[in-house]
Amino acid sequence: MDGFNLKPIQSAVPTIKIENGKYKIIRRMYFSRMMDFFVTEFFEALSQGHYIWKCGVCNKYFLMTTAHKQLYCSTVNKEYGVPCSYVAKHPEITKRKMKKQKKSDSPYYVLWNRRYSSIRQNKSLGKYSKAVSSKAKKIIDMKFERAQFDFDYAENNYEDEMNLEKIYEEAMKE
Ligand SMILES: [Zn+2]
Repeated sequence: MDGFNLKPIQSAVPTIKIENGKYKIIRRMYFSRMMDFFVTEFFEALSQGHYIWKCGVCNKYFLMTTAHKQLYCSTVNKEYGVPCSYVAKHPEITKRKMKKQKKSDSPYYVLWNRRYSSIRQNKSLGKYSKAVSSKAKKIIDMKFERAQFDFDYAENNYEDEMNLEKIYEEAMKE
């Protein structure tokens, strides 16, 4: 790589930013070369525990951003029009068998699992009927499933929609 070095040069300038009427001092970074920016960003990511992984579907490298093991990247695969992690779970898309990605490998699993234990607990405490509980479980399953391939949804709505009260509200309809 031409011009690549492991000692990227940057200048950090304290800057005042107004946020919700409050003044905040932030650090603004300036780079004279694009490569310095990339190298700095990359090492920041590494130092925060993110690491590089090679996606088994598209063979591209991606930055793993959660503590969970993601075997496949979340980038929309141009060939299939859905993210690689979704491609991997649906062998009918590629017609070739991929190593199966476990449910717990998903970054959205933690929240799903938390809701699932609450639903089970509420059921055993008799707070909600068997029927409502199984419907609530179906609802969280659907939302979890959607978060696997709809990344806009995953980023912007998933957490909100996984609100337990809302789930029960939905489960008790009809
Ligand atoms: Zn990929």
